[in-house]
Amino acid sequence: MSDIEKLRDKIDKITFDMIRLLKERNDVAKEIGGLKNNLGLGVTNEERENQLRTKVLLLCKEIGLDEKIGSTFLNILLNESIKIQSTNKTTHLAVFLKAKSMEKDGKKIIHMEVGEPDFCPPIAVKTALSEVYDKGYTKYGDSKGMPEFREALSNKVSKSYGVRIKTQNIMVSPGARFSVFLAISSLLHPGDEIIVIEPSWPAYRENALNSGIKVRTIQTTLDERWEPPIDQIENSINPNTKMIVLNYPNNPTGKILPGKVQDEIMKIVIKNSLYVLSDEIYSSYAYKNWKSILTYEYDKNIITQSFSKSHAMTGFRIGYAVSNPDIIDRMARLQALCMTNVAEPIQYVSLRALDSDTSKNVKIMKARLDLIINKAKNMQLDFVEPDGAMYLFARVRKDNFDAISFTNKLLDLGVAIAPGEAFGNYQNFVRISACQPEDLLNEGMQIIDETLRK
Ligand code: PMP
Repeated sequence: MSDIEKLRDKIDKITFDMIRLLKERNDVAKEIGGLKNNLGLGVTNEERENQLRTKVLLLCKEIGLDEKIGSTFLNILLNESIKIQSTNKTTHLAVFLKAKSMEKDGKKIIHMEVGEPDFCPPIAVKTALSEVYDKGYTKYGDSKGMPEFREALSNKVSKSYGVRIKTQNIMVSPGARFSVFLAISSLLHPGDEIIVIEPSWPAYRENALNSGIKVRTIQTTLDERWEPPIDQIENSINPNTKMIVLNYPNNPTGKILPGKVQDEIMKIVIKNSLYVLSDEIYSSYAYKNWKSILTYEYDKNIITQSFSKSHAMTGFRIGYAVSNPDIIDRMARLQALCMTNVAEPIQYVSLRALDSDTSKNVKIMKARLDLIINKAKNMQLDFVEPDGAMYLFARVRKDNFDAISFTNKLLDLGVAIAPGEAFGNYQNFVRISACQPEDLLNEGMQIIDETLRK
């Protein structure tokens, strides 16, 4: 056997050993997942991961392996464990789909699980829809969006926040969800790390997992009024950390960060040259002072926006991203690869809806949220009053509370709500959405109250 053949033989053996060890590691992760489930523990355990990370970095030093490669490899292994342990999690979408199928079978359901405003889209949408054929919006278009729509969006954003945003800073996408996917998938690489502050809309974490990116979770608590501990954010940053996600007004808590806390986070972000993915789709539903991340005029900002909540246009699947032109180019390349461009009829309709007065929606939503809050004050629920958005995220004051069986029990009684575990390690929490008319919300809250008392 020649020298090279011998070495190739050796490298094959090492690879097979690693694959066998990976299988063994995954099996153990599965066992741990089962135990966590039985003990009512969440999947992510930052403390445990940190202990292991420290030991791995020490080992890298000891054996002379590049720490960056060692920690990237560790991140891939940790993500595998998370995927294995995350099966069977009940999300608000799962509850929604179950509720929909129950409705099909004739059951009446009050939908307090999803964030889908029941308002009609602006009337301008109706007229614009009837015009698209004659106007010839029937062909392929620019992957970043129709120039006149991008221009109108850039003017609107500039005016709203007092910043200079140009057409090349805007990319139209099918909903904010797709912009979030594009930002995470096109800017980050496997083994990179992204900081997600929980409780959180689940898609940031899921997108990261889908792209092999490690999520570093910052857990916030009701007792700390959902404010992220700044030192914890700072301590979680290492050379692999590339992005932080912010979402204020927040889904599910409705939190708006105090200006000083947001400034401090941005200071850390800028010092470490991280991307900031700021999902601002609830900005029109801000009931107290709120400051867009755009106002920091930081080069690595990506802001996601949508017509879903502000204009009640969830079904049109239309949103946009605002960022610097290089980032927009990178995101647009992936968008072009996935879907060429957003359907121009939808873009045209949204352009026409852009300047519609939607302030009535905000007033109605605030009144509904107040209704839920006032009812919840006399129930076995602890919460901080939301500063914005359209949800109440509350802890249930009951021993051994099991949100999943509670959610299922409520569904049988005709009320759909979202269990807290959909948003992170919040097993004894529920999210109640205010997207229904007041009479239904009253009825829903009554049923929730009665069920909690049982
Ligand atoms: N971001 C957040 C925080 C959300 O809550 C949602 C929808 N519930 C989205 C994005 C998705 O918005 P879109 O309909 O624009 O994709």
